[in-house]
Amino acid sequence: MPKEDQVPVPKFDMDSAYAYVAAQVAFGPRVMNTPAHDAAGEWLIGRLEEFGATVERQTFTATAYDGTALKSMNIIGRFNPEMEDRILLAAHWDTRHVADSPLETSPTAVVNGADDGASGVGVLLEIARQLGKSAPHIGVDIVLFDAEDYGDTGGGNTNSWGLGAQYYSNNISGIRPRYGVLLDMVGARDAEFAMEQYSLRFAPDVVRKVWKLAADMGFPHYFPKRNGGGITDDHYFVNTIAKIPMIDIINHRPENKTSFVAHWHTGEDNMDKIDKRTLRAVGQVITALVYREGNGTI
Ligand SMILES: [Zn+2]
Repeated sequence: MPKEDQVPVPKFDMDSAYAYVAAQVAFGPRVMNTPAHDAAGEWLIGRLEEFGATVERQTFTATAYDGTALKSMNIIGRFNPEMEDRILLAAHWDTRHVADSPLETSPTAVVNGADDGASGVGVLLEIARQLGKSAPHIGVDIVLFDAEDYGDTGGGNTNSWGLGAQYYSNNISGIRPRYGVLLDMVGARDAEFAMEQYSLRFAPDVVRKVWKLAADMGFPHYFPKRNGGGITDDHYFVNTIAKIPMIDIINHRPENKTSFVAHWHTGEDNMDKIDKRTLRAVGQVITALVYREGNGTI
C-alpha cells in the first residue's frame, strides 16, 4: 500500500561517493592488526555519526585460517533505529592482506582495495548521507563487515572467508532486518553484476526486484539478467547462519580465470580503476530501493 506522505528518492551524488572511496584508500591497506585499519575504522564511524546514524561497534577477535588472531570490528550504523521494518545494506571495509592473485607478478605488491572493499563502503556512506538528510519510512541498518578478505585461497576452506559476517550473523542484536543487499567490487568501469547463485537460491524475490529496478532506471547493462557463479561472500553467511535473505551485487567477469576483474587481489586495485558512473548506477538503484520500500511503491 503506498503511503500518503511519499518521501522522494534523493539523487545519489557520485562525486561524493567517489571521495569516500578515495578517503579510505588514502589510509593505505586496511588489514586487521594494523594502525591504518584501525584509523580507517574510526573515520568510518565518524562519518556515520555525522550523518545521524546510531553506531554500534561490534568488536571481536577472529581466528584466521593460519591461526592469526585478527582484531576485528563490524561497524553498524542504524537509521530509524526504532522501526520494525528494516533493510540491511552491507559491504566489507577490510582489504586483502596479500596480493596473491594468479595474475599478480610482483612479490612486493600490496592490495589497496579501491574496488575490493572501498567501493561498496563508499556507496553506502553516500546513501547514509542521504538518509541523514531525508528520512525514509523504513529502518536501515548499514553494516560494514570486517575480516571478509583474510580467507584461504587454497583448498576448500570457504568458512575462512567472511569472518565478520559470520560473527554478525551469530550475534544479531536489535530488530532483525527483513532482507539484505551486499555490495562488493561495485566501482570498476563497465562492471557487470550478474545474478549471483546464492542470491538466486536464498533471496530470489530480492534479486528480481533489484534487477527490474535497475532496468527500469536505465542501467540494464550494469545489471544483466544472466546467471553468475556462486561466490562465498558475506551474504552467504547471513543467508545460512542468520537466515536473513540477502543478495550480493558483485562484478562477475567470467572471461577471467579468477572470475573477477583483472585487478582483484593485485597491486592494481587503485583509484584509477574506479568509475564514478558505476558507483552512481549501484548507488542510485539501492537508494531507490530503500525509499520505495519505505513508500510502499515497490
Ligand atoms: Zn577480496
